[in-house]
Amino acid sequence: MSVYVFGHRNPDSDSIVGAISISYLKNQVENEEYIPARQGDISAETEFILDKFDGKLPMLKTSVAGEKVFIVDSTDKIHFQDDIDEATILGIADHHKLGDLTTDTPLEAWIRPIGCSNTVVYEMYKSYGVEIPKNIAGMMMMAILSDTVIFKSPTCTKVDTKAVKELAEIAGVEDYKKLAMEMFIVKSAVDGASARDLNTRDYKEFNMNGTKVGVGQLEMVDITVLEPREEELLEDMRKMKEENGLHTVLILLTDIMKEGSKLLVVSDDESKIEAAFNTKLQDHKVWLDKVLSRKKQVIPFVQPQF
Ligand code: MN
Ligand code: MN
Repeated sequence: MSVYVFGHRNPDSDSIVGAISISYLKNQVENEEYIPARQGDISAETEFILDKFDGKLPMLKTSVAGEKVFIVDSTDKIHFQDDIDEATILGIADHHKLGDLTTDTPLEAWIRPIGCSNTVVYEMYKSYGVEIPKNIAGMMMMAILSDTVIFKSPTCTKVDTKAVKELAEIAGVEDYKKLAMEMFIVKSAVDGASARDLNTRDYKEFNMNGTKVGVGQLEMVDITVLEPREEELLEDMRKMKEENGLHTVLILLTDIMKEGSKLLVVSDDESKIEAAFNTKLQDHKVWLDKVLSRKKQVIPFVQPQF
């Protein structure tokens, strides 16, 4: 029986590359066939990575009842297929807070508070003594550079920078920072994108003690290009809130050069968000200096408000 490997809904590069890198590793060391999968469409950023390093698009897998699975880049039930409870989870590789998924059988869990799931996978390769193929090394390197915002994110550790350097060597990439900037420029493209496209480009919902909160993030090299569209984004956030029965929708417009985020807020109670960040909103917006990471600088402060 095959094992499907996939990351969270609305997959980012870490989820897609993680499915590929874990599957390859497992196929070297186990008898069962591991198959890279995904829960949705890939982003322009991920497409850039797959193109550059000759990566194959993982298969779409939106139902997993009765299947064996290995999950990457989240352990929150809300981020997986509706029938994930009916799958057998063989393993996890992740770098987020521990979520609410449970299992009936023993599993392997590789979870570390570092910058990227692919850094965790890199350590798995080391631990198994499996050589990383050149193209997979390139993709893993790009996933780490994406998740750590080229090492600028507070989630980035020495383990991540060391992994990138070694992976760059295997992949034969000399100037990995330059290649990462190219990737972020691709990621920053907003022309022709609807407000909903932008709000959901990297969007996750969280169950905060029974209250649903949606948090999206756009990482860009210059967020001022979105200034004329902020009202339109807020208007669409109000729609998302209604459609999905959310208490709050937050969108982070993250400027990777200025190293901070403009937070857009639509909420039943804005005072909770003001309290979370110890700030005052103006017209449903506020600039949060140095805030680059949703998992480390946003969720841990918003969650206690609920
Ligand atoms: Mn992710
Ligand atoms: Mn990740």
